[in-house]
Amino acid sequence: MRINSLSCNSISNSQQKSTSFQGDTTSIIPLSKEPVPKEVCDLFRQMPKTDLHLHLSGSAPLPFLKKIMQKGGLSPEDIRTKLCIPDEYKDLADFLRVYCNTAWGVNSPQDFKEVTHALCTSAAEENVQYLEIRTSVFKKGSHPDEILQAVTDGIQQAKGELAQNGFEQTAKIIVLAQRHESAERSMEHAQIAARWVQKPDSLVVGFDLAGDEGKFPSSIHKDAIEYARANGVNVTVHAGENLMSGSFTAVQSMNNALDYGTNRLGHAIYVLDDPILLKRVVDNQIPVESTPVIHHAVAYTPDMTQHPIKRKLDAGVLVSVSTDNRTLAKTNSTREFIELFRHNVVNRWEDIKKLIINGPKSAFLPELEKQKLIQKYNMELGRIEENPKFQQTIARFLTTVKNFK
Ligand SMILES: [Zn+2]
Repeated sequence: MRINSLSCNSISNSQQKSTSFQGDTTSIIPLSKEPVPKEVCDLFRQMPKTDLHLHLSGSAPLPFLKKIMQKGGLSPEDIRTKLCIPDEYKDLADFLRVYCNTAWGVNSPQDFKEVTHALCTSAAEENVQYLEIRTSVFKKGSHPDEILQAVTDGIQQAKGELAQNGFEQTAKIIVLAQRHESAERSMEHAQIAARWVQKPDSLVVGFDLAGDEGKFPSSIHKDAIEYARANGVNVTVHAGENLMSGSFTAVQSMNNALDYGTNRLGHAIYVLDDPILLKRVVDNQIPVESTPVIHHAVAYTPDMTQHPIKRKLDAGVLVSVSTDNRTLAKTNSTREFIELFRHNVVNRWEDIKKLIINGPKSAFLPELEKQKLIQKYNMELGRIEENPKFQQTIARFLTTVKNFK
């Protein structure tokens, strides 16, 4: 999602600017409430998972937000109102209203440290072993280095505490630039990312470009993307989120991002629309980060049963599952798989395993570390397959024809 292109104090301005937002609840088919067997949910929770497309600003766990709002002196009534998250969004203003509510109170480096710690800890509860957290680094009153250090500290604190309980989690940071800002500003982001990547033991691994791809194509930020790539920074670009974005098509937008050397594509919902682009993505194994639940919540894929992730998998795309904005989409890595199963999009164990392994395969990690992570995930999936309880679950429910009875 491209919420980071917008600021809380410019909602009316943003409404005028971002006409490509497709949120319209009248066109959204509400998610099915068909129950998913508990055994399947248990299996999905148990699987090792990654979250590669994860915005810090929209993913603060609700208990953390509640605590910070209490500290800030908000009344219980105000807190309830601010933390009321809808299942689907009426329009951009509705989405921004909720975004601003949840972002309230997360301002100082200490807030960033705490929210990062809370996010890593809650992700660990559902066996997310590898995360890449993306965040803007320009925050009023703080130097970008202070924000990056705070996120680093939050990750390290969570990692240490989790390790004491025998859980190994690796989290990295992606510096997020915004398309609607100037080329000079995105270059500043790329330079900050490059400086941090070169620090010993740095957790910064990437640079991201988010925002309205139709109005602000990647060509504006070509120099920043190329600078990042030339200086050892991996690049992911939000592209192919909208069918038509202004005068620019989704296919053009994805090609544009690839032309400048992006390593991964965020969303790429329409990558199947063009055979030449598809071949380019498949032949070069360009990883695609897919976030199905929020795609539905903002009407990018109004009918969840038609989500293209399985078709991408079948076409040979290196696609994996992420959450985008955990709080704003009321999701987590386990729920993403549950909804794909519930809506008959992905319901075969072999496909689920592919999506899981595509996570570490797509990580912004050195090759050796990536191979180790893939091996670890394969071993854990192997242990799941050897467990009689999960064997039964797989045999009973995760077949081509869904069978709940
Ligand atoms: Zn996003």
